[in-house]
Amino acid sequence: MKSFKITTLPGDGIGPEVMNAALAVLDVVGNEYDLNFKIITELAGGASFDQYNEPITESALQSCLESDAVLLGAVGGPKWENLPQEKKPEKGLLKLREVLGLFSNLRPAKIFASLANASSLKKDVIVGSDVMVIRELTGGIYFGEPRGHNEQEGFNTLRYKKYEVERIAKVAFEFARKRNGHVTSVDKANVLDSSQFWRDVVHEVHQDYQDVPLSDMYVDNAAMQLVRDPKQFDVILTQNLFGDILSDITAMITGSMGMLPSASIGENHAMYEPVHGTAPEIAGQNKANPIAMIGSIAMMLEITLNQPEAAHRLNDAIETVLENGIRTIDIASSDSMIVTTDGMRDEIIRAFQQTNKAISNSRELVKE
Ligand code: NAD
Repeated sequence: MKSFKITTLPGDGIGPEVMNAALAVLDVVGNEYDLNFKIITELAGGASFDQYNEPITESALQSCLESDAVLLGAVGGPKWENLPQEKKPEKGLLKLREVLGLFSNLRPAKIFASLANASSLKKDVIVGSDVMVIRELTGGIYFGEPRGHNEQEGFNTLRYKKYEVERIAKVAFEFARKRNGHVTSVDKANVLDSSQFWRDVVHEVHQDYQDVPLSDMYVDNAAMQLVRDPKQFDVILTQNLFGDILSDITAMITGSMGMLPSASIGENHAMYEPVHGTAPEIAGQNKANPIAMIGSIAMMLEITLNQPEAAHRLNDAIETVLENGIRTIDIASSDSMIVTTDGMRDEIIRAFQQTNKAISNSRELVKE
């Protein structure tokens, strides 16, 4: 039996509810695949501030550092909005990313055919699209020095070191290779020196990944192409600022922000979390949609825990439930069956177990 240590940070608002649902699913996956999960729960965000006067404690960080993977719900809410900067819930998140060295952010935007009507784009434009945006997370213009503003000017510095581009390019090529896909590296090399540098380094790294097709695209064109024909993309590799914008465009193509998982990966650590926030207005009501958190578990199984079959079955289970018209209130339409957070959890578990049964039944038939 393989064992993994997972630190969970449920956080605030709906965070603990979606985390509980996801952990129940993980338990079932563990039983099915003979995986042992040692789950450590720590506080983060407002919940940590209330208890310890800090948005994340040293001991929580230590537990994350010692884990195979970290699962985060979401942090923040009106209760903590007026705290000084260094005590704000978001500070806990930033600290966590820094300490774990999470330099890449992976945001998949897959269209569930049964939810295609939720998108503002035409159904035939989006159905079948499955894009992964891989965004550099710890460098570029958000962190470059010097930076500043006064009454006369404002300025930031866009600078990338070679190792920063190399390591994120590797993540993109590895990921694309695993799913037999291709990489589109997005830059602005016609105008920016830093982008020409980015392009040169990406092509250098590509020498080791000749089996993965690579193309380059200017960011303005990429934004346009994403809404014109998202199916042309597979893995999009890009710098921090462009990735921030493009990943929100891809998220909106799906039409359902509450469905989207994400992963942040470093050299030695990884954290998985839904893209959505703490939805304070529905917190504690058993109404939150747990799919983004459960999808984050699927990403963890695939990327960090190297359990692709379990991950695919879990994603299939989510898709089956949606195809059966089962919805939490945020994605409901007139003909759907509305369930609670716990109800969605149970439906996904049932669908997962049925897939397993179907597969083991077919194995039995083959044996006969
Ligand atoms: P939000 O994502 O919490 O909510 C936006 C809308 O989507 C709301 O109508 C909400 O009810 C709905 N929603 C979001 N997730 C849902 C789910 N799983 N099920 C059902 N409905 C869902 O964004 P917001 O309102 O801008 O932010 C609320 C708080 O969350 C703020 O304090 C913000 O700072 C924080 N936040 C945290 C993170 C994070 O921890 N990574 C990310 C975004 C926002």
